[in-house]
Amino acid sequence: MEEILQPDPNENYRLRKTKLIATLGPATRSPEKIRDLIRSGMNVARLNFSHGSHEEHEETLNRIREASRELQMPVAVLQDLSGPKIRITELEGDFKQVQDGEEIYLQHKAGAKSAGDTIYLETLNPVEFLKAGEQILLADGILELRALEILEEKVRCVVSKGGRIRSRVGIAFPDSEINLPATTDKDFLDLAWGIEHDIEYVAISFVNSAMDVLKLREEITRQGGHSKIIAKIERKSALRNINEIMSASDGLMVARGDLGLELPLEKVPRVQKRLIEEANYRGIPVIVATQMLHSMVTSVRPTRAEASDIATAVMSGADALMLSEETAIGENPILAIKHLGKIAFEAEREFDFDEYKFRLKEADTETIPDAVAYAAAAAAIKVKARALVACTETGNSARLIAKYRPQQTLFGASSSERTIRRMCLYWGVQPVLFKSPENHERELETALQQVQEVGNFENGDRAVITAGLNVRTPGSTSLLEIREFRYA
Ligand code: PEP
Repeated sequence: MEEILQPDPNENYRLRKTKLIATLGPATRSPEKIRDLIRSGMNVARLNFSHGSHEEHEETLNRIREASRELQMPVAVLQDLSGPKIRITELEGDFKQVQDGEEIYLQHKAGAKSAGDTIYLETLNPVEFLKAGEQILLADGILELRALEILEEKVRCVVSKGGRIRSRVGIAFPDSEINLPATTDKDFLDLAWGIEHDIEYVAISFVNSAMDVLKLREEITRQGGHSKIIAKIERKSALRNINEIMSASDGLMVARGDLGLELPLEKVPRVQKRLIEEANYRGIPVIVATQMLHSMVTSVRPTRAEASDIATAVMSGADALMLSEETAIGENPILAIKHLGKIAFEAEREFDFDEYKFRLKEADTETIPDAVAYAAAAAAIKVKARALVACTETGNSARLIAKYRPQQTLFGASSSERTIRRMCLYWGVQPVLFKSPENHERELETALQQVQEVGNFENGDRAVITAGLNVRTPGSTSLLEIREFRYA
């Protein structure tokens, strides 16, 4: 316990292994706020395509790229596609107040304004799937209805938990099986925008099966894009198909907002724990999202429960933590990301590296790059290395070493700016950009020189290095070298 009371002797939040994602919105899309977010620890900026026009996103994206260049701190961008989120239509007034026990009707009528005792749905006909007795949730579950009777054109419902309904709020049907495809026409248009702007990550909402992910991948490949796909796990069907979805995806997001509507709330922490374990085992990044610091939308301090939630996510192996409203529309976005980083950093001191070392033995090592990553992480322990250095074309070898959760600093060195940004999401990876030399044979030495410049190595420090015979060929990582830095 005594050591818990001591500050970390290396207190330097840049050493934090867990990556931070902030959603940009009205509270943070100014150039100043974007710079503040980067300086305060944001590794990945999320653009939420449920809101905003392409012009607006383009302006925000340019500001992110500009601030990142100016500060010389790499930042990845995550484009979050809205998917088939089911919403009610505009209301006639600003809001509608409903009381417990009141009866209201649900009906499908796109574009019509909801008024009187009827609420219209944009995309779905509730008569086709609702059954009497089933639950309906509005506004992230703040309001609850129950279906009483299925009529010819509408469903008669009773309000079981009343409150204020606003225009275009989300509506969820946790008891019903609705099989909407995960990608809408709007999503495909947004995806094309993302590909055109070379966005590093695209998150696909409401995934049902691997097919949804593969369809998106096909489109990315067809358009010559490079975006990596993050599957947002927020549906029961996704949990049923989780193995296939993980095999098809480049990463996962535990989208606790919608997951908490689809599942009884008490099941969400168990699902989170399992998803993190599975993703860790496969070595794909996993993001824990939603309400991590919800109270900070208005408050200047997190609650104790929020601090504990963040720490639990870190200690159970999350690669990244995400803020939504806290940074998009909150009153204290910069404070929120600072608190997130500090709590995560402190929690890492309790991270069970030994358990992961044990897991080194268990994890699969089928491919050559994975075998090299495994050997590198083990060698770093054996020779008491200060650092690991993955010289990488695509970022893959850095991601594979991160899978073994090394305690040492892990540098991902690349001459590709896209790869540098991509690695911003990977647990523990510090991206280092180097300028590719004319003579390719000097590639490795050039990379190491750059790492030495940023790495503050001391005389005699050891580094475990992985590389390909040709550093520029993706998937070629097959070399492992242990080097001792000597200075005259
Ligand atoms: C979520 O549901 O937790 C989530 C991240 O998705 P969105 O914010 O797009 O609803």
